[in-house]
Amino acid sequence: MKLQTIIRDQDRLFIGDQVPEKYKSDHFISDVAKVHAVALPISTEEVAELVQYANQESLAIIARGEGTGVAGAQVPIKGDELIIDVHKMNRILELDEETMTLIVEPGVKNGDIQEYAESRGYFYPPDPGSKHSSIGGNVATNAGGMRAVKYGTTRDYVREMEVVLSDGSVVSLGSLNIKNSSGYDLKDLFIGSEGTLGITTKIKLKMLPLPQYKQSALMAFATLSDATDAVLTILKLGVDPTALELFERETIEYSEKFMNLALQSQKGQAYVLMTIDGNDNEAIIGKIALVEDMLSNDALDIIPLPNAEEEKKTWSLRDNILTALMQFTEYEMLDEVVPINKFAEMISYTKELQQKHELKVINFGHAGDGNIHTVLMKKDLDEETWKKKRKAYLDDLYEKVLELGGKPSAEHGIGLVKKSYFTKMSNQIELELMRKIKYALDPDNRLNPGKLI
Ligand SMILES: Cc1cc2nc3c(=O)[nH]c(=O)nc-3n(C[C@H](O)[C@H](O)[C@H](O)COP(=O)(O)OP(=O)(O)OC[C@H]3O[C@@H](n4cnc5c(N)ncnc54)[C@H](O)[C@@H]3O)c2cc1C
Repeated sequence: MKLQTIIRDQDRLFIGDQVPEKYKSDHFISDVAKVHAVALPISTEEVAELVQYANQESLAIIARGEGTGVAGAQVPIKGDELIIDVHKMNRILELDEETMTLIVEPGVKNGDIQEYAESRGYFYPPDPGSKHSSIGGNVATNAGGMRAVKYGTTRDYVREMEVVLSDGSVVSLGSLNIKNSSGYDLKDLFIGSEGTLGITTKIKLKMLPLPQYKQSALMAFATLSDATDAVLTILKLGVDPTALELFERETIEYSEKFMNLALQSQKGQAYVLMTIDGNDNEAIIGKIALVEDMLSNDALDIIPLPNAEEEKKTWSLRDNILTALMQFTEYEMLDEVVPINKFAEMISYTKELQQKHELKVINFGHAGDGNIHTVLMKKDLDEETWKKKRKAYLDDLYEKVLELGGKPSAEHGIGLVKKSYFTKMSNQIELELMRKIKYALDPDNRLNPGKLI
């Protein structure tokens, strides 16, 4: 079997030196080892044949969607890998209104799923900042996003998935049944496995009815700790926020500069941006008023955003933080998560470490679910100092995350970038179980070797 007999279109196959640069690096990793080939299949059959080819030639395989991953999981590290890029498998196949499910191929972009669902009166809640990421990648990383506090993560919306296994066989995992107590949940095992157990080729997603109304409010606080206190207050009020995001003034300034837009409030050091949705507009307005009432003494500004344009503008400032940062400095974004009652302590510790290591950090995050994106800024540090400070900072930070009962990644995955911390922080028996599962499903360690565990 030859690659050219599996992928017959020249524009869907790049061999050796033809492999485009974009496959050879990501935000963290560059100068990766030589790639054997990149193949862009358009069917499950082609994916299965590519996996069989890799077995025949003893090649490692990396599945790839849109390449927006930020954990180094989609980049080649060993040399001579076969990259199976599924982004051309991008058809929305079927909306079944009776079961409220949508069948999609793995290369469909998250934003396109959201748009398609909404155009038909449905709602697909998982909402990562990277709307251009693929659903296959979202499943492989169990992507979260802004609305996880109310609606959960990608895992909660996968009813069924078709997977090509390491030997090239094809299996369907999960089912349409809402309840299932029939054996091990293999579907859930594959979700978040970062391409180390199989390649997803079709997904049946759960849809919700589209909420009719939503409204946001922006709150400004004098200090970061006032803002984290407010998050806990809001969660305890029972207003069931759809999104509850926190960002520092220093963080949003990058977005303001990049987008040439000013946030509605310029007061204080930290902000909380909240959205509430539902089918009863009066109830939503009442909940926003309750939050205003409860925080009136603590906040410097509380600005409801009933105007859709203003709301969109504010959220776009939040959405563009990362893209904006890329224009101004090299950085490393973390993805730590701690139990919600430890959120304030964790975020304030990131600032203590800033002093200790003399390394600039800023924070933003999905405050409602305890997920912090701490951003380490290289600024004008030389490469050697940056590497030294980064390591010292991360050693301390992850020790604290562990002490608080947290995890190194809430939604981006472990990949290569967090692997050493993940293995150090994990319970060794649990880690050994994961390795046994990996071996049982992929005995030749063909699928994304060297990543995750
Ligand atoms: C600006 C920006 C904002 C972001 N915001 C968020 C956010 O809010 N929340 C969040 O969760 N993430 C966020 N991310 C991270 C990233 O977008 C997600 O991890 C996303 O799910 C990756 O999807 P992808 O299609 O780009 O996958 P890739 O980067 O191509 O791959 C990521 C991983 O998935 C595996 N994979 C991809 N497709 C398949 C498949 N079909 N079968 C098996 N394995 C597969 C790869 O092997 C790799 O391990 C952000 C990234 C950026 C750049």
